[in-house]
Amino acid sequence: MENCKGKVAIVTGGASGIGFGIAQAAARRGADIVLADIAADKLEAAAAALRDAAGVRVIGVPTDVADPGALDALAEATYREFGRADMLFNNAGISSIGASWETSLECWRKVVDIDLFGCIHGIRSFLPKMLESGEPGYVVNTASLAGLVPTPHMAPYAVSKHAVVGLSGSLAQELRMQGAPIKVAVVCPGYIATPQAKGSVELYSADAKSDIDLQILTTIGNAAEAGMKPEEAGEIILSAMEKGDFWIAPNGAPFRASIEDLHKEM
Ligand code: NAD
Repeated sequence: MENCKGKVAIVTGGASGIGFGIAQAAARRGADIVLADIAADKLEAAAAALRDAAGVRVIGVPTDVADPGALDALAEATYREFGRADMLFNNAGISSIGASWETSLECWRKVVDIDLFGCIHGIRSFLPKMLESGEPGYVVNTASLAGLVPTPHMAPYAVSKHAVVGLSGSLAQELRMQGAPIKVAVVCPGYIATPQAKGSVELYSADAKSDIDLQILTTIGNAAEAGMKPEEAGEIILSAMEKGDFWIAPNGAPFRASIEDLHKEM
């Protein structure tokens, strides 16, 4: 499938996990890729792997999505290198562990800054130019099942992901009201076998304050180990993007449900 030839996809958190899966799926369709990630050391290897596999142009741009200036710089690098931006995947995210009242303000702010404001900064830095071009485009935000259902002991994550679902709905409506040819999707995966999810115990146990925290981290790690592969998630996310303008896509059961279907089920 080569329907993205000549298009440019920007993927935050693109050096690993679901972001890299999205980049692989977009590159397979012929898109040139901008990989943005805070892990500067992983970017070049990820970019080289994509170039070798798909023969598309790829650049890696070290980016902290919590920093609005970094997203402006990412947009500048994208337009300087490729002269266009067609698909923006606001995907970078981190998690946290702990009961709401035990979570430090520092942790609350860090998760919200990356998981929610990362998407906001992406939209603010890219949308004006994408709109100005008048060309069809896509914004795809990675939320989580934790953005749809109550999720204990990771409230900063759940709050951010619920807000990403809300943000995506507002943006979809705003663009529709403007008659803009830019579609918005929000994807809400369950367990995907990525380094972050599989390594939950290793990554977050230093913050654990109770046995419940540790149990939750272990459950997440085990479920992710058995979860969907990130490449497969990337393919599903690309087809969700292509099919609809506002998609809620929890995996496990219906990765294809639209927001209307989801409301019917609730
Ligand atoms: P991952 O850790 O494998 O990949 C996340 C990438 O984001 C990493 O490369 C990391 O370096 C990068 N990153 C972290 N902080 C950043 C920052 N401040 N700026 C730029 N890049 C940053 O994790 P993943 O599981 O692939 O997660 C990707 C997205 O999917 C996240 O938003 C996560 O919340 C969401 N998600 C994951 C799962 C799952 O089961 N894996 C489920 C639901 C939602």
